[in-house]
Amino acid sequence: MWSLLPWLARHRKYSYDGGILITPPIFPMPIPLLMPVVVLLMLFLPVAATADWYKQEQAIMGTRIVVEFWDEDKVHAEQCAEQVFNEMRRIDALMSPYKPNSELSRINQQAAGQAIQISEELFNLLEKALQMSQLSNGAFDITFSSVGHLYNYREGIKPSEADIQQSLAAINFRHVLLNKTNRSVHFARSGVRIDLGGIAKGYAVDNGIAILAKCGIKGGLVSAGGDSRILGDRGNRPWMMGVRHPRKKDAVAVTLPLSNTAISTSGDYERFFIEDGKRYHHIISPSTGKSVSTTWSATVIGPDATTTDALSTTLFVLGPEKGLQLVESLEGIDAVIIDAQGQMHYSSGLMPPTPEPAPAGPEIR
Ligand code: AMP
Ligand code: MG
Repeated sequence: MWSLLPWLARHRKYSYDGGILITPPIFPMPIPLLMPVVVLLMLFLPVAATADWYKQEQAIMGTRIVVEFWDEDKVHAEQCAEQVFNEMRRIDALMSPYKPNSELSRINQQAAGQAIQISEELFNLLEKALQMSQLSNGAFDITFSSVGHLYNYREGIKPSEADIQQSLAAINFRHVLLNKTNRSVHFARSGVRIDLGGIAKGYAVDNGIAILAKCGIKGGLVSAGGDSRILGDRGNRPWMMGVRHPRKKDAVAVTLPLSNTAISTSGDYERFFIEDGKRYHHIISPSTGKSVSTTWSATVIGPDATTTDALSTTLFVLGPEKGLQLVESLEGIDAVIIDAQGQMHYSSGLMPPTPEPAPAGPEIR
């Protein structure tokens, strides 16, 4: 079974940012009442100025990494943030399918011919990925890449129907044979390729949070694209995070407060191109080798980002009905799925959201 850490949600009403649209908590006090508070704060300014929310961003793993936390000491903050970014770079060098020298690429090059020994770290993550495949009956499947690698979304390239049919049989997580005794991986047939794009960013975020915790940080956030994890809260308040509207630029579909938890969103707007009115995007149905068309976005809230990352991709593939059925069977997991009609579906652990005003701005595709 998928190993889920025991997790108690302090708030049963959550939110998410899609890793992008993080909004600070809204101060609930009317402006005139705020004035004495401002004056008081100014009296303490020399003290307050030494401590602050520290925020850094870098582009790593083909995405935007954000690290934000409270630290009294700017030099210490800079050192801790750099450790997080270095960890992201290390994981990218290990797991990128685009870097020919990564350990993952070595597996793709060699594991069809023979069983090859791999690092404990990669072995453990492969095990988790396969557990998610079992749990989702193959909706989450890292061998999607056997067909998936034929797409290039940036350049608008897709495989022909014949290419898809030729490679489709190589998609099956059961082709990935792990041997714990000698920590090896072997592909059961040729043509199999794996890609950890649906789980590795969450794993990197978890490691980033572990680094911040080791640094003594009590409140902060690490996010990598659509995967975020929050350590503690944001100064005795939850983080206010919005799920991005999948079809309205810069608009938020739902905003909810979140503390001490992980959250991931998978969306069909992340990497895609449109040809003849059809959207080709990066989340692939393992049974067809084509982009999933039942879902616009899937957001998952859970104990750690490795879990929420893998589950958000899984729910995207499963769609609202089967996806929420899976969520209800898991302890400590909640989800919001926006279907291909723009309808929002919530798991039972979430309170109905406060309706957002109709998002402004032009429709985007
Ligand atoms: P995410 O944004 O976390 O949903 O990850 C999307 C990424 O997951 C894609 O870019 C692929 O690398 C990978 N992926 C696509 N389809 C699948 C699938 N069916 N199972 C597992 N990973 C997938
Ligand atoms: Mg994911």
